[in-house]
This record gives sequence, structure tokens and C-alpha cells, in this order.
Amino acid sequence: MKTMAYILFFACYTFGLTAQSSILIKNANVWDGTSNQLNISMSVLIEKNLIAQVAKNIPAPEGALVIDGSGKTLIPGLSDAHVHLASTLGLAEIRNDADWMYTAIRAAKSAENFLLLGFTTVRDLGGPVFGLKRAIDEGLTPGPRIYPSGAFISQTSGHGDARNANEPSPYWSGGQMHPIDALGWSFVVDGVPEVLKASRENLRKGATQLKVMAGGGIGSDFDPIHSIQFTSEELQAAVQAAADWDTYVAVHIYTAPGIIRALNAGVKCIDHGHLIDDGAMALLKEKNAWLVPQGFWTMAPASFWEPGKDSIPPARLKKINEVLDGTAREMELAKKYKVNLAFGSDAYGALGFEEYALMEFTARMQWFSPLEVLKQATTENARLFSLSGKTNPYTEGKLGVIEVGAYADVLLYEGNPLEDIQVIVHPTENLKLIVKDGKIVKNAL
Ligand SMILES: [Zn+2]
Repeated sequence: MKTMAYILFFACYTFGLTAQSSILIKNANVWDGTSNQLNISMSVLIEKNLIAQVAKNIPAPEGALVIDGSGKTLIPGLSDAHVHLASTLGLAEIRNDADWMYTAIRAAKSAENFLLLGFTTVRDLGGPVFGLKRAIDEGLTPGPRIYPSGAFISQTSGHGDARNANEPSPYWSGGQMHPIDALGWSFVVDGVPEVLKASRENLRKGATQLKVMAGGGIGSDFDPIHSIQFTSEELQAAVQAAADWDTYVAVHIYTAPGIIRALNAGVKCIDHGHLIDDGAMALLKEKNAWLVPQGFWTMAPASFWEPGKDSIPPARLKKINEVLDGTAREMELAKKYKVNLAFGSDAYGALGFEEYALMEFTARMQWFSPLEVLKQATTENARLFSLSGKTNPYTEGKLGVIEVGAYADVLLYEGNPLEDIQVIVHPTENLKLIVKDGKIVKNAL
């Protein structure tokens, strides 16, 4: 059923991005990404890849494509601050069963799926996506703009150490680089010099931020959730390498002690953070750092955690429950301290799982208004992405807003998402027009 819906979805909308030198969207109710209400019956003129004019009435330039937005809502393109576009198969499958090109083509499909859901920009928090980013930027394949991290930086036995129980460390055995590392997924490193080398290797390839595993993870088998990963000196080394390129470090971490260590080492973005406490949240606020929690995990079915399966092995279920227990408290503390809060789903798995990124909108309704969550997924995320400083590849215009000079990334919906977030959650029915970088990706009008 779901597969069929997807096939129809793609058959209708994916045949070529339409290049149009100017597009005029008339009479739309515009939410610009920053204001608290809609601006009724506005026109937006797109020239090339930027927004050229926003006004009540704009005469159509010669040759412009004119779109009537009557009764519909125009918002900036959405963004997701935590994706893994290349992770459409399990690591063991990628490593043992899949040709690298097959994995890459699946990643391209996943990128296209995200774009068709309305995500025009993503921050990829680990995995080999440099080539995908380049192909999307060159217009070879449809997808969102990508802020890539490159390979996970993990310590031995950390969340990014994908060896099975019988594989010796290449370090002790004098062996070759682990296959998953060689494919660009991970650098398993220990000590300051190795962390620096891995950090610089990612920066050399075009990482716009570094992703460091700073504590135990759910999907990995040899690191309990409570484990803290990397010493302060190792974390500081990654932060220094990133800062020297004018960018920052984001870490995977759940626990309060791990969060405190990372923040004190200069880490600017805490991804997950589900087991944060009052003191760690206060420190996050004091450091003006960012938090990227995943609310939808509390609603996700077993097949999200174990793709292709209906049940979860007990050891993994224990880890999941340990983490999920903290979700509500994390959100409440984030509200209490008014911290920088980004919208990042960490939705990955089988193709089609991109839809779970939209579930994050539904989940956040437990703690936030539609307006607050829409800001998180547009302007707030854009503020986070701007931490990548001089490594930021997308500086021609602003992201996440509808204003003159911004990138022409806009979505036209039937209905008003400021009143009902479900408008966003069901794009097949409601999302009538997707424009990314001034090009029409979908036009169902
Ligand atoms: Zn992740």
C-alpha cells in the first residue's frame, strides 16, 4: 500500500526539474519564516535562484511562469538538521552485501524523497555523502542542499565502531582499515593526534561541520548508553580542528555527564540529548549551544528501529527505552531554558522512512505550537547551519525565509499549517508546489 503510494507519488512529480528564469506566485498567504502570522494575499517573484520581490501586487515580467496561489499558504522550504542520507541499509548490509554504487544510488533516492516531502535543505550527520552533495548542487540528481559531516569520528568501541565481536582492531592486528571506514562511514580513532587526523580528513573532503560520537548509542552493540566517549582533550582536538576551518562540532550524546563534558570542550551542537538534566541544560544555555532532540522516536514503530522486522531484540529494546524515558523531560527543560532548538529527525532506515521526518512535526505538538515548530524547521535551523562559517557552501542568499535576496526555496500548501501542522505531515495531498533554488520540483496545480 505504502509502496504503491510512493510509486504514484514519484511517477507524477519527478520527471525533471523545470528551469524557469522567473516565477511569479500570486495571491498566496505568505508565512515568511519569522513573523507570527500569515501575510494575506501576497505575491512573490523569483528570479533565477533567488527571491527578487515580495509585495501585494507584482506585475508579471515577460516570459515569467505565473502561479495562482489563491487560498493557499506559501512557506519557506523546510530543513532537517539531522539526517543520514546514505543510511538506507543497515551497516552490515552496506558492508557485506551491497556494491558501493548501489548504496550511492539508494542515497540519491533518499535525497529525492526528502525533497518531495518539502525538505529543501538538510544537515547530514554522518555517512559518505560528499559525492551526492556535489551531484545535487550540479543538478545531476534531485535533492535538498546538503551540509555534510562526512565520516563519523568515533573512539574504539564507540558508537561508530562497526566491528563485529570477532574482528580485531586494525591497530593491534596490523590489519587494514576496516571496510566500513574505507567506505567513508567512520573513523575509529583514539588519542589527540588520531582525532586531529580524522577531523582534518573530513574537512579536506568538504565537511561543513564535524560529527563526533561522544557517548553510547542504540544501534551499536559494544557501547552502553551510559558510556562517555572521548576524553576532554580528544573532544577539544576536534573542536580546535573545526574552529581552525571556521566551523563547529556536533556530537551524538544522550547523557547529562557526556553533554557537560562536550559543552566544556567547546562543542556547539548536542544531537539527541534525551537524558539531559537541569544542570546540563543550564550549561547548554550558558554556552549558547544547540540542542537537536528527536521527539518522534517515542511514536516510531518497531520497524523503524529494526528495518524489515516487527520486533526488537531485548538488548536493543532496553537501550531504546532507557533513552526514550528522557524525551518529555528534555523537551520541557529546553522550553524552560529557552535554548537554541533545531528541528532534526534522524529519520533513516529503509527507503520510504524519510516520511518519519514529518512525524517529528506531529510529535513536537506535545510541547510546541505549530508556529514554534515551523520556525525550528526553517529559520532556527538556518541559524544552526550558519555556524559552519566560512565552510558554508550556500552563501548566495539566506535560507529558511521568504524575503528579498533569500534562496528561492518555497512550498505552497492547500490549508494553513500555522493552524494545523497536519497540513505539513501529508504532503501528497496538501503540498501543491515545491520550488528549490528557483527550480520547480513539483507542480500539482
Ligand atoms: Zn544520527
